[in-house]
Amino acid sequence: MQIKRTGAAGILLTLDGVNVLMDGVSREVKPYPATPDELRSELLQTKLDALLITHHHKDHFDAAFVSEYAIKTAGPVIGPADIQISEIKSLTVQPVESRHIGKADDIEHKSFIILGSKCIWFTGDSSPLQWQGREDLPKPDVLIAPYAYAIGTGWKITKNLAPEHLVLLHLPDPSDDPYGLWEAVKQTIDGNTYPQIHIPKMGETISI
Ligand SMILES: [Zn+2]
Repeated sequence: MQIKRTGAAGILLTLDGVNVLMDGVSREVKPYPATPDELRSELLQTKLDALLITHHHKDHFDAAFVSEYAIKTAGPVIGPADIQISEIKSLTVQPVESRHIGKADDIEHKSFIILGSKCIWFTGDSSPLQWQGREDLPKPDVLIAPYAYAIGTGWKITKNLAPEHLVLLHLPDPSDDPYGLWEAVKQTIDGNTYPQIHIPKMGETISI
């Protein structure tokens, strides 16, 4: 499988030959980066099998991109109001009602569990706290989550979820990090051996 970072907290996932763009195009919310214009155009030319959107904050969602995509391809768009389990080719997508982290906890928000040859959790901006005791959900092989999942209590919950891989998103550029997020994450991951942690740069593709 491949994961290409295309937004502040968004990716293009390719799993079992299926392309799913998740929170994939972002607009700038300082200090978090927007999707660069070239990457945005490239995504419109890419054959996408579905778009998934966890919630409507603009660092996760670009309405203009979604409408351009929908007009061009008529492909499925699964958003935070969707509750049904969907099939996207050979993949199954399970939307999971989940609370947004921090002050914006009243916005409608879904996380997505993607089941194919691996189980992927894409958590958007959801608070890590709510995953304690969710024995009803399939265990993630790959957890894709914002930096909060590698800090403090969030890290303990990540350890309990025990994915093989943690892909951290939503970090700003290290040169523009007013909240010291990189330092906080580094304190967690230095010397860590499990799970394997990946922090892709904007536009970077990782293979797992
Ligand atoms: Zn948000």
